[in-house]
Amino acid sequence: MNKLNNLKVTRGGYNKMKCVIIGGDAAGISAASQIRRMKPDWQVRVYEKGHYISYAACGMPYYVADAVHELDDLVELTPEEAVSSRGIDLCLGHEVTGIDPGNRSVTVQSGSKVFSDTWDRLMIATGASPACMGIPVHEMKSVHTINSLPQAEALKSYIKNSRPERMAVIGGGYIGLEMAEAVRSIGIETILVHRREDLHRAFEKEMSDIIKKKLRDEGVILHFGHSLKTITEDESGAIVVTDGGDLRVDGAVLAVGVEPNSGLAIDAGIKTGRANAIRVNEFMETNIAGIYAAGDCATAALAGFGMEVHAPLALKANKQGRIGGTNMAGVREPFAGVLNTAITKIFDLGVARTGLSFAEAESLGLEPVKYTVESRDRARYYPGMQKIHSLVIVSKKDRRVLGAQLAGALSAVKRIDVYSTAIYNSMTIDRLMDLDLAYAPPFSPVYDPVLLASRIGSRKV
Ligand code: FAD
Repeated sequence: MNKLNNLKVTRGGYNKMKCVIIGGDAAGISAASQIRRMKPDWQVRVYEKGHYISYAACGMPYYVADAVHELDDLVELTPEEAVSSRGIDLCLGHEVTGIDPGNRSVTVQSGSKVFSDTWDRLMIATGASPACMGIPVHEMKSVHTINSLPQAEALKSYIKNSRPERMAVIGGGYIGLEMAEAVRSIGIETILVHRREDLHRAFEKEMSDIIKKKLRDEGVILHFGHSLKTITEDESGAIVVTDGGDLRVDGAVLAVGVEPNSGLAIDAGIKTGRANAIRVNEFMETNIAGIYAAGDCATAALAGFGMEVHAPLALKANKQGRIGGTNMAGVREPFAGVLNTAITKIFDLGVARTGLSFAEAESLGLEPVKYTVESRDRARYYPGMQKIHSLVIVSKKDRRVLGAQLAGALSAVKRIDVYSTAIYNSMTIDRLMDLDLAYAPPFSPVYDPVLLASRIGSRKV
């Protein structure tokens, strides 16, 4: 129990509290807005080291591909709106460089000015940074990472001004896939480099094979099964050095995963967990009373399975921020956890996943069975009908649905949400089959692919 929740008299000797939040994107602004909603007379100050707040990082690949034309279109809330309509005390261009839990203060740097500021409750919402493997990306003109709006802008202007003909994207996770599509879709020869033969472990091999085929069909060159050693640059571009040979390209995008920005917290004695993310309980509390964390810098529990995970995804950041804000405002509300539910677009192929992978289910001793079903996403005769591939993971022990992955048309794979709901509610494959899902020919066959896959699964498990 957080002792500060019972605090009646604060630093100033009156009931109003001062909350400080480090980081002004999804988690930080969600927390700040929630506290202001619940406690309109509390002071809520957000320190953001950049000059944007509340931006849709998820839209950046589409901005680079020019499907979204203006960078400002990715901004959900302007700094002016945050101040005027939400009453947030916003400090842009201010980096927090230290936390002193004993004195309940932070050290802040803005340009050459360094000062300290006090808080009654503190939230760390510093996000995550791209893993760079020690490669000095920021010293190279032709090598990019994509984690913030200025980085997206730098990559787009590099493409516009330098007109690269051949680029490498390194990393077979969501961001690598989306960036490979972005670069290829604007006519650049694209090489996707990934250290394993199969894509990121979030995708089962069967899904990885479907995605790889799609990438090849769209002309992306796959340099798989080769680890990146380094990237160097000379006057004619970049050299991507892998253990399977060197690739000479005009430019490169490094997308080999993200690392939580937990250094500030560690220096302050705050404990970390999975992937070195700040360990939080369901109330977003760290091990130090009065200090909370949320978003990409923080851990979460895998709902229903109890495992601690690092899930750098937008919905989780927004929810943890809001719930962290609720708890900071003194109302106990737990975060229900995540299922690593994710969806992405690879050209016209939609791919989605939720729940455990087969390997995770095995490691938890759940005796998983996995099977795949290929079916139609609309009535057989209805124009535009396409195939949808469903992969379902079920426990042999108790017939509980553990995980699911889908590949098919963009509009079809959002059905992953039905599986997510089922897993969240610990449903068995038989209960899933009982669901009354909507049917009309333009949307699905009479037996929706989820029902068909569960019917087949109920016989296999
Ligand atoms: P961030 O967005 O990283 O924000 C942290 C903020 O803290 C930053 O603004 C930073 O400047 C600031 N900060 C850091 N340190 C300090 C400091 N010391 N002092 C002051 N300020 C500081 N997720 C999905 O669910 N779906 C998607 O399709 C998707 N696509 C993505 C595509 C890309 C290219 C990227 C990069 C991410 C994508 N994500 C996606 C992930 C999603 O964007 C993140 O989960 C989300 O932005 C995390 O929000 P956050 O507030 O925790 O962290």
